[in-house]
This record gives sequence, structure tokens and C-alpha cells, in this order.
Amino acid sequence: MKNVSNGFVTSLRYFCLVGVIAFGLMTIVATGGGGGGGATENECGDQNLGDLSDPGKPAEPTRTETYPDPEIFLQYDDVNFDVFQKEMHNRTVTVAFANDFDLGNQERKDFSEFVFNTWAVYWKEFGGFPYDSYTILYGYDLPYGDVGAFGRGQETSSARTDYTAHEIYHSWNGNAFRQDGERTWFMEGVTTYYGNMRQQQEGYTYESIMNTFYGYYLDYCNAGQDRPLADMSMNDDDYDHTFVAQKGALVAYLLDKKLKETGHHLGEVARLIYQRYGIESVGRPTNQEFLSAFNEVSGEDFTDFFNKYIYGTEALPLDGSEFEWICHE
Ligand SMILES: [Zn+2]
Repeated sequence: MKNVSNGFVTSLRYFCLVGVIAFGLMTIVATGGGGGGGATENECGDQNLGDLSDPGKPAEPTRTETYPDPEIFLQYDDVNFDVFQKEMHNRTVTVAFANDFDLGNQERKDFSEFVFNTWAVYWKEFGGFPYDSYTILYGYDLPYGDVGAFGRGQETSSARTDYTAHEIYHSWNGNAFRQDGERTWFMEGVTTYYGNMRQQQEGYTYESIMNTFYGYYLDYCNAGQDRPLADMSMNDDDYDHTFVAQKGALVAYLLDKKLKETGHHLGEVARLIYQRYGIESVGRPTNQEFLSAFNEVSGEDFTDFFNKYIYGTEALPLDGSEFEWICHE
């Protein structure tokens, strides 16, 4: 840890600030709830995890970016951590809470179940995981600070369901494959949408969070600050960094809804992108390549949708009261 530069630590902390900012108003604590989310979620078969056998391991992403050595980054032991592990698809998923972490014994057990289930839901969507293990450490004063999302795991001080689910999804979307232009709408918007779908915190639901985001979006529009998603990046200092994730999540919902009309869903597109740019190559998909993937999966032409809501700033066709749960099955 000592040989890591401050700059690296900074960028690590920054990687997923959205979770912290977007939900800064919440004061929560993890509520139990292992399995499903809201009632609507349980009406779908998409949360049924199926068998956990080994389907084979896809190739690990090979990247030129500097990643921390997971052997150093994700360290825990049985003395200083309360460790929960589960074998799924021949991978070891580990959730380790520092002894002084502010969660009771039952809450730790419940939250570890939430992590296992979230990982397995995403695994099912992507059809594989390119590493042998996934680890999350919860604690204070961890070597790399508050947040980090790297393919093999993360260290964090925030045991929030939305935030944790967001970071786990980044193991694929953002790590196994990475969008051209860095931290733009597919990477942060789609990931935020998935984090919202796994939302299980007391007093908040998937629908309520999406509605909150819609309110933020209207505020930006009313202030004349809306911008095309294709022009936005969380690395851009010119605007509120959360907007790309919030508007991106709304557009991800609209894409999911439009795909559903064709008998498909957003997970199929993400899976195609993962296979194409995370397994078969390490290219960085462009907006045009995302468009091609949507067209390929749906058999429809999403050009008009992209022109309006990705390249343009046409008002999103939402009224803020109709965020339905879209089954991925
Ligand atoms: Zn993120």
C-alpha cells in the first residue's frame, strides 16, 4: 500500500463518486433482505439464480491501465474481519467486514447474502465472470480509502445496497469492458440503473430513486443545463458529475423499456457488449458500436432513439410516475 501514489488513491476514490453524491441525502443502514428487492421484482423470474455450476471461465480482460494488485488491494484475515464466503459458478465470492464496522451480526449476514445474490444476478445477465474470485471489504481506514471498483472486488466504508450493487456491476461494465470516452452514459448510466434495481434500503425503492432522478433531470432542463449524453463524461469538470449517471440511468430505463417491446432486455445488450469488447477483444465500444449492439439484439433500428436522447437533448418521454419494473427473463 505504501508504494501507491496519492494520485492513484485520489483517482480510486473518485472512481465511483456517483453513489455517494447521488444518494448523499440518505442516511441509511443496510436492512436485511437477502433475496429480492421490491414486490414487483419478485414477480419476475430474473431474480431466480438457477444452478450455480461452473460454465467455464471467460478470458480475463487484458488492459494497459494500472490496476492495483488484488493480492495487496483486497487483504483480509479471520482475526480482524468477519468473513462470509459463498461458492457460485466455481468462483469464490467473499464479503469481509472489519471487526469495528458498524453493522450488527445479523445485518452482516444479511448484507453478505445481498452481495452474493447481486453478484449472481449479474453473473446470470453476463453469462460469466472473468476472474476466479470477487471480494468486497467493508471497513473504516482501509488502505485505499472509501471506494474502489476493480474487477476482482472493492473496498468500501459504505454498506448501502444501491451503492454496493452499482460497484459490483462495474466489475463487468467499466472493468471487463470499458466505454470509449471514459465514464460516460453506458458505463455510469446503465450501472446506476442496475444499482437502483437492486435498491433495498429502508424507505427507498427502485421507483422512488428513479423518480428522484427524474426530478433532478427536470431541474437541469429547467435551468437550461441539459446536454447530450454523448457529450458528457464524469471526467468533465464543466458540470455536475452526477448528471451523466442520473440522466444515463433514465435513458437506460427507456432503452430497457423499448427493448422489452421487442421481446428483449438491456441485459442482453450488455452481455453482447461484454462478449465483444471484454472477451473477444479489449476494444472500447463507441456510441456507434453501442447502437449496433442495440439494433442487433432487438432486430429494430435504434438510430432515432440515439439521435434524440443520446446525441440530442429531446425531452425524455417520461412523466415521472411510471417507472415500471422491467423483467429480464
Ligand atoms: Zn459508477
